[in-house]
Amino acid sequence: MFKLIKTVLKTGDQTVKYPFAPLEVAKDFRGKPELIASQCISCGACARACPANAIVIENDIPALVRQWELSIARCIYCGRCEEVCPTRAIRLSESFELAVTNKRDLYEVAKSDIACCLQCEKPFVPQKLLDYTIGLLKQTGMKAEQLEHSREQIKTCPECRRKDNMLDAANVACSAFLPKSESSLSEPKEEVL
Ligand code: SF4
Ligand code: SF4
Repeated sequence: MFKLIKTVLKTGDQTVKYPFAPLEVAKDFRGKPELIASQCISCGACARACPANAIVIENDIPALVRQWELSIARCIYCGRCEEVCPTRAIRLSESFELAVTNKRDLYEVAKSDIACCLQCEKPFVPQKLLDYTIGLLKQTGMKAEQLEHSREQIKTCPECRRKDNMLDAANVACSAFLPKSESSLSEPKEEVL
């Protein structure tokens, strides 16, 4: 008996006190993904990369709102969202206690505004993504004049930008690039009756 007590004392605790004490998890443990909504620019990279379709992004165009939604029930804790996020807005936490009494608590939701095109006023991009892009341009040390020009371009939808950049028909006609003598040859001659 004395020998047994001596062995037990020597060995110490071989079990953990969880759930009465927090459980220490391993380094790089992949637990519940958590979103820092203020850092999220609604770019949608995480939704495209998520192999389990656990992240869904939906646009409510009349309300000009983009909704980001994560379903913890679908998540497989692969960490792809964390890898692709450009602003480190989503990270896998150390949290593993995921039981809930209300199914709705399995969802994490964030909302952001959608910006409209400067020219046609159609909604086309999340406002935060716009601000983020302009912020990045500022960091490049661009001159104020250039920055203002880029800002206007960034705030214009791709369709309006395409129209702005399109050459008019006269410029793209082949004859415009030919020397005058050759171009006159290519012009149809009047028929003599
Ligand atoms: S950890 Fe993987 S499955 Fe879970 S939300 Fe991120 S990308 Fe999707
Ligand atoms: S990748 Fe990051 S910034 Fe982009 S929508 Fe996902 S969480 Fe937000």
